[in-house]
Amino acid sequence: MRSLFLALACLLASSTAWAKLQVVTTTTDLKWLAEQVGGDLVEVESLSSGGQDLHFVEPRPSMVMKVKRADVLVRIGLDLDMWADSLVSASRNKKVVYGAPGYVDASVGVERLQIPTDKVDAGMGDLHVFGNPHYWLDPSNASIIADNILEGLVRAEPAKEAAFKENYWKLLRALTEKLKEWEKKAAPLKGVKVVTYHNSWVYFAKRFGLELFGNIEPKPGLPPSPSHVNKLIAMMKEKGAGIIMAESYFPLKGARMVADKTGARLVVVPSSAGGLPGVRTYFDVFDQVLDALLDARGGKP
Ligand SMILES: [Zn+2]
Repeated sequence: MRSLFLALACLLASSTAWAKLQVVTTTTDLKWLAEQVGGDLVEVESLSSGGQDLHFVEPRPSMVMKVKRADVLVRIGLDLDMWADSLVSASRNKKVVYGAPGYVDASVGVERLQIPTDKVDAGMGDLHVFGNPHYWLDPSNASIIADNILEGLVRAEPAKEAAFKENYWKLLRALTEKLKEWEKKAAPLKGVKVVTYHNSWVYFAKRFGLELFGNIEPKPGLPPSPSHVNKLIAMMKEKGAGIIMAESYFPLKGARMVADKTGARLVVVPSSAGGLPGVRTYFDVFDQVLDALLDARGGKP
């Protein structure tokens, strides 16, 4: 009798777990946003951690299993997370292939920056033909990302549309409040000259009025060369770029050297939720980055 009861309890528990829509995202920021829109009706897993270079995530069998179980897959798109393609095809999950109801490209509708006008070739580094893919670093784009997620969840589970919409509006209200707070906080950063390790902060800089100046990488995805670094140092000395931003997963030796030679402050920043200790949510990313930049402003040479 007792074992029958246990078996029933297990069956019940697993059926409620499966009743939740299974969502897989390529990044932790998308995971957090999908959790806000999906609420307790979804179970969300991210294929990458927040402290990884999202251009180069190595596909693993455990990730294929996650995609296999997914009802909805949310990705950054614009060729950033191309590694997800091999996972989708290995999973043979028709629900999340390109064009299926469970396929969500979070970039749809985003105003893209830096769309290359010339012909793209391999010598240009890891350049993206659809434009710069780091759009989630402008937090106002979160409403577009959330729109895309909402549409995907509704396609996958139309009966729960009202609940998803209620969560979505709650997220948008919270976002509106945070955007006001961040704009105010970032006011002293307007016009501050910044060099970044990778070309990942253009959307952020546009939103908050920073003046981007150059990259430690000579071309996206390529390690710094001595000639590029020397040119950058000369330019920084001439124009006075006071801050270098670098994500924690990049090798910091080159950036440290440039900082030492120019008197600029090196600021190690998260570019996703989980990117640094204490940065748990997508909103935390902007709290942390703005605080770090404000703190570093005093280091202007
Ligand atoms: Zn990039």
